[in-house]
Amino acid sequence: MDNRILLRMCKMSGHEMPFIQEAFDGEWVVPLGPNVTGFEKDLESFLCTDKKVVALSSGTSALHLGLLGLGVEAGDEVMVQSMTFSASVNPVRYVGAIPVMVDSEPVSWNMDPELLDFAIADRIKLTGRKPKAIVLVCLYGMPANYDKIMAVAEKWQMPVLEDAAEAFGSSYANKKCGTFGRFGVLSFNGNKMITTSGGGALVCPDEEAARKAMYYATQARLGYAYYQHEEIGYNYRMSNISAGIGRGQMMVAEEYIAHHRHRQAYYREHLSDVEGIVLHENPDSKYDSNFWLCTVLIDPSLKVEGEEEAYSAAVTSTVGGAGGVTGKVDSVHTDCEPNANVEAIRLGLSALGIETRPLWKPMHKQPVFSGFPSYVNGVSEDLFHRGLCLPSGPYVTDKDADRVIDAIKSLIV
Ligand SMILES: *Cc1c(COP(=O)(O)O)cnc(C)c1O
Repeated sequence: MDNRILLRMCKMSGHEMPFIQEAFDGEWVVPLGPNVTGFEKDLESFLCTDKKVVALSSGTSALHLGLLGLGVEAGDEVMVQSMTFSASVNPVRYVGAIPVMVDSEPVSWNMDPELLDFAIADRIKLTGRKPKAIVLVCLYGMPANYDKIMAVAEKWQMPVLEDAAEAFGSSYANKKCGTFGRFGVLSFNGNKMITTSGGGALVCPDEEAARKAMYYATQARLGYAYYQHEEIGYNYRMSNISAGIGRGQMMVAEEYIAHHRHRQAYYREHLSDVEGIVLHENPDSKYDSNFWLCTVLIDPSLKVEGEEEAYSAAVTSTVGGAGGVTGKVDSVHTDCEPNANVEAIRLGLSALGIETRPLWKPMHKQPVFSGFPSYVNGVSEDLFHRGLCLPSGPYVTDKDADRVIDAIKSLIV
């Protein structure tokens, strides 16, 4: 279907090509050059910070280098938000550390400060060692509860690695997400607020930390003519072509962010008469989400067309190994699925040419992380059961949103 409304498409602004042309003309088709430096400067001024930004090949590599920057080593424990995309946690395993999953609070959907405090105390009691760091996420662009989380981090003297991959342009108390922690992570993957086709950045506390990150990102080579290596390095630097896309995207970043915020407000206004569907909202005036994805919670009592079928389809696909599940069925998978009415809305909308997606499945419910410690309060699982992401992004017009809204209403019995 041509007029299918997709969840989140990136959009080129037309400002990208001149930067790329310049790179070609100057033979700067390498992972360094004027666009990389220019993009880093653009990001620093966008974030309104004295911190130093290092452009990298992905948000995931930025998380990896952030952990190295904090001195996280094999066997260390790292507190991570469970309600997130897997890329927040995978790098903890790259360095051989142990992720300790912490559940969310119901308002921001991000890490619960009291549970974090409890979990850190408990880890020290159980292992005799303080965990090395805290990986905090701003999910779907919603800022975390920074006041309280940073107070807990301060209390335990633990550094925060801030995963602001989804929160480009979000702020808390007028300070940009990505600038609160000792290190901050941005992503410019194809579906993020702005894109470089693939890319990311590490926000570093100072020149020295940035220099170190750059060193690890370029194979940890020391300044000898023949390259001397005393440590393991990585090939993580951003290409000058990608950075050219990024510089063009920076020229429309504010416009895109405003469009996302408008989209969430529009859905909220036009779905306000539907009982049982609640749009995610800034918990108070300190929070200013970019609403990267427009998210809703659906009450379990809301009756939706095709609910029975959706339920049995979910059960069959789990048992049959379809839908991304391969091999044996385990309890970790089968006991955690979106509610039947959420699945019915997703399938119903898909049949009407509208793409939606359940929320991220909490990491403590992911088979790959099920063997690691977790501190759970039920919030992230409840969000996962009830949540859905609606189409957002620069391509989704008010007219498209009307179609989504009408389609949702048509599915409610
Ligand atoms: C996208 C994303 C990342 C990873 O960024 P990439 O650039 O895709 O590697 C990390 N964390 C979260 C929460 C993300 O959504």
